[in-house]
Amino acid sequence: MAEITSAVDVSMEKLVSLCKRRGFIYQSSEIYGGLSSAWDYGPLGVELKNRIQNFWWREMTQLHDNIVGIDAAIMMHPRVWEASGHVENFNDPLVDCKNCKQRFRSDQLPENALKQKRCPECGGELTEPRQFNLMFRTHIGPVENDRSLVYLRPETAQGIYVNFKNVIQTSRLKVPFGVAQVGKAFRNEITTKNFIFRTCEFEQMEMQYFIHPSEDEKWFEHWKEKRFESYEKMGIRSCKMRFRRHGPEELAHYAKIAFDIEYDFPFGWKELEGIHNRTDYDLKRHMEFSGKDLTYLDDIRSERYTPYVIETSAGLTRTVLTVLSDAYEEEELEADKRVVMKLHPMIAPVTVGVFPLVKKDGLLELARDIELGLRGEYSTFYDQGGAIGRRYRRQDEIGTPFCVTIDYQTKEDHTVTLRFRDSMEQVRVRVEDLVPLIKKSIDEYRRNE
Ligand code: ATP
Repeated sequence: MAEITSAVDVSMEKLVSLCKRRGFIYQSSEIYGGLSSAWDYGPLGVELKNRIQNFWWREMTQLHDNIVGIDAAIMMHPRVWEASGHVENFNDPLVDCKNCKQRFRSDQLPENALKQKRCPECGGELTEPRQFNLMFRTHIGPVENDRSLVYLRPETAQGIYVNFKNVIQTSRLKVPFGVAQVGKAFRNEITTKNFIFRTCEFEQMEMQYFIHPSEDEKWFEHWKEKRFESYEKMGIRSCKMRFRRHGPEELAHYAKIAFDIEYDFPFGWKELEGIHNRTDYDLKRHMEFSGKDLTYLDDIRSERYTPYVIETSAGLTRTVLTVLSDAYEEEELEADKRVVMKLHPMIAPVTVGVFPLVKKDGLLELARDIELGLRGEYSTFYDQGGAIGRRYRRQDEIGTPFCVTIDYQTKEDHTVTLRFRDSMEQVRVRVEDLVPLIKKSIDEYRRNE
């Protein structure tokens, strides 16, 4: 077995290049020169994204008696965004450079650039900050006027609040209960560098947990801990994550208290998910703006009240970046070197690579049969091209946790070589033991930190 002598973490450049080369993520509309801040998910990227989403969905809905899902429309009644405060408050302060015409978020400028009102790129004079609303606008119907104006939702949460009564009436849930949703959100972001970290179109995975107002601290702590643990279960190294509490000046207009789960990206510690105590702000505002009663009659407490909401708000696309950055390693081996994606086997796009050692003497057919047998349980990839070592490396690079090689001995005794990605260990196993062995390995998987 090859000895691993050293391992290094990833740089953004290498990650972007691997993502493109191996079909995880491509620049949008690349043949036209690309559209800045828009990205497309390729064959492996979409598998990874779907697996992360499915894992989240299971963790946040199916494993609970009292959390259900919905899927609301992206375009909602424009009054929703007045009620939510987004029309008024969802702004970034922007400054322009009078010389090079670049635009910056003033809250993200280096301190001395802001103080001296000088452009960090060319040293030119900066304008005074102006508020810029981040919502994308469009029109429904053929006439473009104020009455046809709609917004592309900047968060999925409002789709849950406006359905609060519907969900209660149709599901007979009682407070405390949660409603979860995964879907696209849109923000006209100005600073969009760092690959898929911050894009104008992205996906969120949000859960709104409706509670009695007196229990907000308890549930806030509960969800804060649960969400951190959930990333650990997905295979993210805990040493690369931390909590950060929002200071009073950065709290969103709806939040009483907010914590971010941050990840140590190649470009620094940044938010991965926000956990917010949104109080009764949203439900009360929707009552005010819609005139509909959104209070809750609690028959256990014999009390009518407006529930508080604890929100867990994660970016799906940002989680893809987190998972990829966390998984990437370059290892120096004794006489070689490899790039390996140490993805948790549960979310790896391909679970098992299947290879015939050579292309003759019936090994191809045998390998195909074995691959078909595994397909019912796992996502597989069949590869008959090139030296076996090279085939292993190709799978390492996309994070395939298991490889199965079929050789002449397979014909004799129906055994194969099972190779493990992280340790590169190889064991001889019977074909009929593959499914349970792989299952056990997935269940017991732990990455060496
Ligand atoms: P930021 O400070 O990074 O702009 P935010 O505090 O505005 O984020 P929230 O409104 O709390 O973010 O959104 C919840 C989650 O949605 C974030 O933790 C992040 O994972 C994701 N998210 C928000 N904006 C974007 C974006 N432009 N691109 C990708 N993901 C995003």
